[in-house]
Amino acid sequence: MSIDVVGAALSNAAVIAADHEHVFHSWSAQGSPVPLAFAGGEGVELWDHDGKRYLDFSSQLVNVTIGYQHPKVVEAIQRQAATLTTIAPAHANATRSLAAERIAGVAPDGFEKVFFTNGGADANENAMRMARLVTGRDKIVSHYRSYHGNTGAAVVATGDWRRVPNEFARGHVHAFGPYLYRSEFWATTPEQETERALHHLERVVQAEGPASIAAILLESVPGTAGVLVPPPGYLAGVRAIADRYGLLLILDEVMAGFGRTGAWFAFEHFAVRPDLITFAKGVNSGYVPVGGVIISDPVAAAFDDRIFPGGLTYSGHPLAAASIVATIDAMRDEGIVEHAASIGEDHLGPALRDLAARHALVGEVRGLGVFWAVELVEDPATRSPLPPAAMVRIKAGLLERGLLPFVQDNRIHVVPPAVIGAEDVARGVAIIDEVLTEAE
Ligand code: PLP
Repeated sequence: MSIDVVGAALSNAAVIAADHEHVFHSWSAQGSPVPLAFAGGEGVELWDHDGKRYLDFSSQLVNVTIGYQHPKVVEAIQRQAATLTTIAPAHANATRSLAAERIAGVAPDGFEKVFFTNGGADANENAMRMARLVTGRDKIVSHYRSYHGNTGAAVVATGDWRRVPNEFARGHVHAFGPYLYRSEFWATTPEQETERALHHLERVVQAEGPASIAAILLESVPGTAGVLVPPPGYLAGVRAIADRYGLLLILDEVMAGFGRTGAWFAFEHFAVRPDLITFAKGVNSGYVPVGGVIISDPVAAAFDDRIFPGGLTYSGHPLAAASIVATIDAMRDEGIVEHAASIGEDHLGPALRDLAARHALVGEVRGLGVFWAVELVEDPATRSPLPPAAMVRIKAGLLERGLLPFVQDNRIHVVPPAVIGAEDVARGVAIIDEVLTEAE
């Protein structure tokens, strides 16, 4: 079958059929066609080939922070494409330098160097490699409830997939992070959860032997695992443990970074300073694939006289670099990070808490900025998760009404583009309200 990708007469059915013929999809069995096809988007909306419009409460995979087709970013990519579309990482390139300068400009003081990758997983791969080379140690400690990417070491660091057989799963250790709603530590207050999770983490470090550990790798706010906003004092306590035992602290800001929580970096909410920061997604809203590691000065200096053996053909690709410069400029000029904070505090958070107050199905609502999870339970007393079949029906109900959700396990993650306005927040939450009423 051949389709004209820019043709006006395409239907959803034709596009889905063509996709099914030759595209091998991520995270899927290949037997059935994918359910949705999208033709275009603008701002916080997408539309399909049959003319149906969707309000996006997913930001795709939580990356489209500035919304679809931001004209300044589209234009910057077009301008760069007309000038130079590719250049090897070994050469200097003005657009790449500007992108690194913009990223260092929003990072904390003392983070001057940026290593570019193609996405978030390889950002974490390279951060772990840097930590191992600098410390001369092997192990990486991360949380069971985490997602760090789907390549070699990143998938091993990912706690969510520890149960999947993996021949590379060596040199990685996991600990339970804080999650008060389902506390592993019999905690009933955030303070207890912090204290006990830190005690547990320190015992894991001691038991593994600090001299064998290179780094602790954590998402500042674990995202895919449930938008698990850490309780007060947890991340600062992790920093103290890292310092006590001479370990590096890598904070994975791939999903939470670049505005999603209403700050440039999520760790800014928790007064903690990492040694390495990994990023991707929001840095350019996914307009061109890119990610990277922001490196603190002492770690960067450790490579002054030694080779860093990591490298990727497309590291610092000019189209990605141009999109980063334009995205960060647009976010600054338009106050998008500040908007994410206020829309979360004044509209999204209150509307979701109101849902929780009115629906017994809602066990907990948690989040910051435009980064929220609504956790659904069968029974609020036992907190037993809403079963998968019910979640499938809820997802279908949302899609039917034109809301594109990010549904994960027993949760609806409410993660719209940060440019969403109050009216669209109200419109999307009203759809969730309706679907929950129907489910009850
Ligand atoms: N780290 C975190 C926190 C993520 O959420 C993700 C992707 O969702 C990744 C890493 C992996 O990023 P990528 O899919 O770009 O490799």
